[in-house]
Amino acid sequence: MKELLKNLPKIDEIMLVLKKRGILKKAPRDVVLSACRSVVGDTRELILSAKKDDTNIHVPSLDEVADAVIGRIENLRRYSLRRVVNATGVILHTNLGRAPLGKEALERILEVSCGYSNLEFDLEKGKRGLRYDHVQRILCELSGAEDALVVNNNAAAVLLVLNTLALGKEAIVSRGELIEIGGEFRIPEVMEKSGAILREIGTTNRTHLSDYEDAVNNNTGLILKVHTSNFRIVGFTEEIGLPALVEIGKNADIPVMNDLGSGCFVELDRYGFEREPTVQEVLKTGVDVVTFSGDKLLGGPQAGIILGNRDILQKIKKNPLNRALRIDKLTLAALEATMKQYLNGEDAVSGIRILRAITEPLADVEKRAKKLLTILKKSHIEGLVLVLKEGTSMTGGGALPTQEIPTMLLSIKSPCMSAGRLGERLRHCEVPVVVRIAEDEVLIDSRTVDEEEFAFIEEGLQQVFAEDV
Ligand SMILES: *Cc1c(COP(=O)(O)O)cnc(C)c1O
Repeated sequence: MKELLKNLPKIDEIMLVLKKRGILKKAPRDVVLSACRSVVGDTRELILSAKKDDTNIHVPSLDEVADAVIGRIENLRRYSLRRVVNATGVILHTNLGRAPLGKEALERILEVSCGYSNLEFDLEKGKRGLRYDHVQRILCELSGAEDALVVNNNAAAVLLVLNTLALGKEAIVSRGELIEIGGEFRIPEVMEKSGAILREIGTTNRTHLSDYEDAVNNNTGLILKVHTSNFRIVGFTEEIGLPALVEIGKNADIPVMNDLGSGCFVELDRYGFEREPTVQEVLKTGVDVVTFSGDKLLGGPQAGIILGNRDILQKIKKNPLNRALRIDKLTLAALEATMKQYLNGEDAVSGIRILRAITEPLADVEKRAKKLLTILKKSHIEGLVLVLKEGTSMTGGGALPTQEIPTMLLSIKSPCMSAGRLGERLRHCEVPVVVRIAEDEVLIDSRTVDEEEFAFIEEGLQQVFAEDV
């Protein structure tokens, strides 16, 4: 073993070979050096961990090591953040980037960011403007709010409002609403970081009006209502609605905030969903501030939207923390384009992909699934068993958690590969396809797959079965 280790190529020898191959035109010297060290280090580990009688172990030649170094450097050039096909049927999949952006939003990003823009420049007056003013009017018109502000995401929006209105003061929240959304967003922890003092009231399943009334004191800064998003409490429960909280707030001169989580401008009950108040309806209760995400049911880019009372919004805008949480110009361009879709009234649903996916009639989803089936059958992949079956999609993203949406699934089975293995191989394709796996079947949910994406699924399967399995 000592002999093997001694014969490992030396770094300067490898560098010499690489230089001859013109590597320094392809990567910075330090990057090449570090790749050399990693490759030699890995080889050393391999030799050290080999069994005594392992005859397969050999010392790689200089050229072999150089090839490995070049491979490593080429890997660096591959994009890590890539498009994928979401065949899972989870419409707002947080790990897959939540809401896909529409064509208009993409065009606006390109238009606004390929050159300079009036991001913080008032063209009318010829002097400094405010970045969030570009969406302020449209948000107010559509929601009925007096004023609007947008920040990086809803977590930032909640943090900013709490910090502005309840720093060093108590914020009253029902125990049934002390939620965790995932991705480390937990109401009690955000509250602590904001400097607000959590005043939890009631019990997990029941909170009464008197719990709120009794909790109000001289040091109360805020009454907070939180949308429970990804879970429901059922059975023996009691929750106080927003109008009653607004009433308490008015009487005691304490602002009331509603973290809506998803925030939807469209009445989804018209499409057979459980009734959820729209942003417009929530604001009509007279609540002082509402916050919600840009990339959940709204269907736009990641953003945190804050709407409400003018005086309070002015205070929030002046909070120095706002500077740290500010929205960037690409997002703003996409958000403005997304909001314009809502000017189309009832047609907004067809212009926003996630709303389209949620509300699309089963018959249309089925039609698409059949098309995909036909395409895959024509591709003649040895032994693939393809079957259509009924199933359910989920909204995801903490929105409408208990609602199952009927869908059509394409089940794929291979005689020579387990579903788990096939799913894994599909994730490693040129355009990765992320599928659902159940009972040793790979399932493609056509509710979350657009027709333009069929080619990626077909190519993916061909790629998987072309490599030796
Ligand atoms: C999703 C959610 C958040 C966090 O929103 P992000 O945009 O992911 O930061 C906060 N509160 C509630 C109630 C949510 O559902």
